[in-house]
Amino acid sequence: MREWMGMYPEELRQAMSDMGEKPFRAGQLFSWLHRGAQFGEMTNLSLDLREKLARDGIDQPVSVREKRVSRLDGTVKYLFSLPDGNCVEGVLMRYHYGATLCVSTQVGCKMGCRFCASTLDGCVRSLSAAEILGQVQCANRELGDERVYNIVLMGSGEPMDNYDQVVRFLHLVSHPDGLNVGLRHISVSTCGLVPQMRRFAEEGLPVTLSLSLHAPNDEIRRRIMPIAQRYTIAETLDACRYYIEKTGRRVVMEYALIDGVNASEANAEELADRLRGMQCHVNLIPLNTVKERNLKGVSEAQVQSFLRVLDGRHISATRRREMGDDIEGACGQLRKRRMQEEQA
Ligand code: SAH
Repeated sequence: MREWMGMYPEELRQAMSDMGEKPFRAGQLFSWLHRGAQFGEMTNLSLDLREKLARDGIDQPVSVREKRVSRLDGTVKYLFSLPDGNCVEGVLMRYHYGATLCVSTQVGCKMGCRFCASTLDGCVRSLSAAEILGQVQCANRELGDERVYNIVLMGSGEPMDNYDQVVRFLHLVSHPDGLNVGLRHISVSTCGLVPQMRRFAEEGLPVTLSLSLHAPNDEIRRRIMPIAQRYTIAETLDACRYYIEKTGRRVVMEYALIDGVNASEANAEELADRLRGMQCHVNLIPLNTVKERNLKGVSEAQVQSFLRVLDGRHISATRRREMGDDIEGACGQLRKRRMQEEQA
């Protein structure tokens, strides 16, 4: 089955001409698909063409399977269904400046970070660009008059391990005839696949790159992130500097504070030394406890003292707000539970 929504306009034009249709039909189809329409609604296309499109492919690859609304802050956690029966998670957060959607790029993940629930059962498969886009369309449908304004690729999966489909998604979601989401409103998060980060710097896409750093030195990073066996922090930060140089955009350093592992004031000092002079911002994340992992978060006082050290050394840093804590908002938690329930 073809995923029409994942095709570039020029690819749709080719497909139309292969089907004996006029090339301008491609533009009509593109705008319908990206508005989230079903074949039945595409009234300016002939019934015959719509039947052919439905026979060869799908219109909407993603649907909402389950949804939970946080009573604390209105954050919505979605379990999205994919055409092959797999499911992935997404989170919709409402901020005063607009709705932010967190999307998944893979079913599961193979990176093996010790603190993350998405990776507990490995990676089932990568998502197609259409399946990533479909998550945005589902959220738009749910939002009614409002639209998703910011997108973060921070759901399950490693975006740099699904490079081509992620880049395709970024081009499609920002297309002026499609959803037209500003690339400056999109963040791509990576655990640090260095060669892909360097390649990504050259794509000419002005998105924000986030690095899941989580440690001030290689010894600590290797204990919690297998990727650190492959690339040193020095190499990884060099790739970030290259990204900054190529795009002119600052990089965000994600740092989840884990008690007794990376959260001491000495750790903060070492982190500040490593980041000095870099155009970056540190995002401190209180760890979401994953019960399968025996790692603990830190107290608010520890967060504040870590922040104070960075502040004192003029490293731009903030503490990320926790949202949806009552609805298993953290990556991989909801899917994991559903899978366990289905097995039981
Ligand atoms: N694979 C990508 C994107 C998905 S994870 C990456 O590693 O960046 C999105 C962010 O959530 C990453 O910074 C990740 O390290 C963080 N994260 C994963 N599990 C977490 C947990 N239990 N508590 C807090 N942050 C977590």
